Amino acid sequence: MSFILGISVVIRLLALVWALRLWHRIQDWRIGFLGAMVALMALRQTLTLAKKGFGWPPQLSAGMDEIPGLLVSILVLLAIVFLGRMIADERRRSAELLVTNRELERQIARRHQAEDRLLTLSQAIEQSPESIFVTNADGRIEYVNAAFVRDTGYQPQEVTGRNPRLLKSGRTPKATYRSLWKALLAGDSWEGELYNRRKDGSECIVRSIISPVRDAAGEISHYVAINQDVTEKKQAEERIRYLAYYDPLTGLPNRTLLMERLNHALVQPRGAANKGALLLVNIDRFKTVNEARGHLLGDALLRAIGERLGHLLHDDDTVARLASDEFAVLVRELAGSDDRAAARVKRIAERMLEALREPVDIDHEDIYVTASLGVTLFPESAQENAGAILRRADTALHQAKAGGGNRSAFFETGMSHWAEQRFQIERELRQAVTNEELRLFIQPQVDARGRLAGAEALVRWQHPQRGLVPPGVFIPVAEESDLIIDVGGWVLSEALKLMARGDMAGHPFHLAVNLSPRQFRVSGFIPWLQDLLESTGADPSHLTLEVTEGLVIQNINEVIARMNEIAALGVHFSIDDFGTGYSSLSYLKRLPVHELKIDRSFIQDAPVDEGDAALVETILAVAEHMHLRVVAEGVETEAQAAFLNARADVIHQGYLYGKPEPAEAWFERWFGKAAG
Ligand code: C2E
Ligand code: CA
Ligand code: CA
Repeated sequence: MSFILGISVVIRLLALVWALRLWHRIQDWRIGFLGAMVALMALRQTLTLAKKGFGWPPQLSAGMDEIPGLLVSILVLLAIVFLGRMIADERRRSAELLVTNRELERQIARRHQAEDRLLTLSQAIEQSPESIFVTNADGRIEYVNAAFVRDTGYQPQEVTGRNPRLLKSGRTPKATYRSLWKALLAGDSWEGELYNRRKDGSECIVRSIISPVRDAAGEISHYVAINQDVTEKKQAEERIRYLAYYDPLTGLPNRTLLMERLNHALVQPRGAANKGALLLVNIDRFKTVNEARGHLLGDALLRAIGERLGHLLHDDDTVARLASDEFAVLVRELAGSDDRAAARVKRIAERMLEALREPVDIDHEDIYVTASLGVTLFPESAQENAGAILRRADTALHQAKAGGGNRSAFFETGMSHWAEQRFQIERELRQAVTNEELRLFIQPQVDARGRLAGAEALVRWQHPQRGLVPPGVFIPVAEESDLIIDVGGWVLSEALKLMARGDMAGHPFHLAVNLSPRQFRVSGFIPWLQDLLESTGADPSHLTLEVTEGLVIQNINEVIARMNEIAALGVHFSIDDFGTGYSSLSYLKRLPVHELKIDRSFIQDAPVDEGDAALVETILAVAEHMHLRVVAEGVETEAQAAFLNARADVIHQGYLYGKPEPAEAWFERWFGKAAG
């Protein structure tokens, strides 16, 4: 066997093996089959060639014509190897392609996702309830969302390309803009409140967050502003603050704010001024005005009084309204020594009283009021507090009220016992009726010729320690509780007993008894009075009940019904203190009234004061028009008596004719002689 032929056979066998390996490797039987077939065919050809040359069994010999067979063997082997390589490459490439395809798909999916997100984001921004706008780095608006349009009234095309300063109202504090620009220039976000203006000119308050937006290179490319309109919230907050610290009726600070300012004044270092002052102002008989003339007029009056007090003061003083008819004035600084400070605040108090006495014009009608003032200086000690100051002023105010009103009282040490005394009076007065400490005093009333026409019953309290206590001290205390029912009841029954005495019963004479509103209103009063009249045997037509205008106003129809019921018994009614209570003729006409009593304060100055004279004349005219008897109270001088007599036929009551005196003594004086 030739050597070359041997190699050729070996190579072809190798090719066969290679083909089988390829078959195995690429796991594709078709390629393997093809390779194996080619290899087998080549092998067979070699074997044929060998048989042809050497006979069978083959005798291998070297020859030049065996060279092409070797070449074919090599080529077959190479073909199979290349085929394998080619298939492998192809396999790899298609695998790679698969990978790239998958990557591509993933990328596309990612982009879709990103696009979706972007869409959601832009929808979110567009539909955000918060107003959003975006400017470029130069501050020109590039985008506004729907809420911006809603909140500002500007359409996108009206603001695009413009600077957001078109939203400025001018009310934002300069410091706010400074902090805004400082943050933005430093590349930071800024958050704060801006006072803006809408397109229609109305102002709004926005809570704003402005942030820079950076591009891929880190440069600021845009600014985005997110604005929340907090106008309503702010207004509500301001309203709550207002309600917490101010009185809605007058717009003045309320008690809370006054106390805060008072505390503040206490901790402030004092310079030349070492004292401050607190003045409490209470309108005298305000309740009567309010009830007589209605709350609208009462409210207008309070507003006017608040304003008037404000005009009298410096800017850094405070006028506050503490309760319905109670005001407070805080004067923070009174320079000079304590005495000088006291003198100054006294002058302020005088000025205030004077200003309040001036008529208040309400709906072209002059309304007259007076006030009581309680005054205290502060600080009294180093540990002073606002509550203590207010209590001192309040005590002084009570003192001014007890003095009859229309005056000021300075707090004095010792006064603080007064409130306690009041409490004690109430406690002791409860015993006074059962302990028989009350005394009936009588003051005569005379006609123009000096003849006795009637009398007024006035109560006194014979206190075991205090002595004879005047009604001005204990009646107001009694009137604040049901005590007045006992006290008034006692007076009425004593007065009726007196009237029923035989020697007095025959005279054409009216005994006047004061009747408090509480007494009048208490259920069972009418049958009680009826029983009393019957049991004492007193003539009802000789009894006059004095009521004040205040009574007549609350539940007017009910009051009229009760008065009519009492009048039906034959009892007369008199309106006490007439002229001080803002009576209106329209209601007076509806009441079963027989008499008007002109208040002492008008009689006093009537001969010298034109205003009082005119008022008395008006009352006389009203009385004449309505056919009412008139009693002038507090006649002390001949001049007063002459003034009255020159104008009308009135009944006089006053010290000129007799002071109130104990009923027995009085009876002796006027009837004892007659009887005896
Ligand atoms: P009022 O009803 O206005 O009584 C008139 C007051 O004027 C009395 O004071 C009387 O003493 C005083 N007065 C009379 N004439 C003169 C005068 O010429 N000059 C001066 N300066 N005063 C004069 P009073 O007795 O102190 O009574 C004060 C008030 O106490 C009464 O004012 C009345 O509101 C009340 N009051 C007295 N007694 C009773 C009572 O029994 N029941 C009720 N509910 N109140 C009473
Ligand atoms: Ca009276
Ligand atoms: Ca009176």
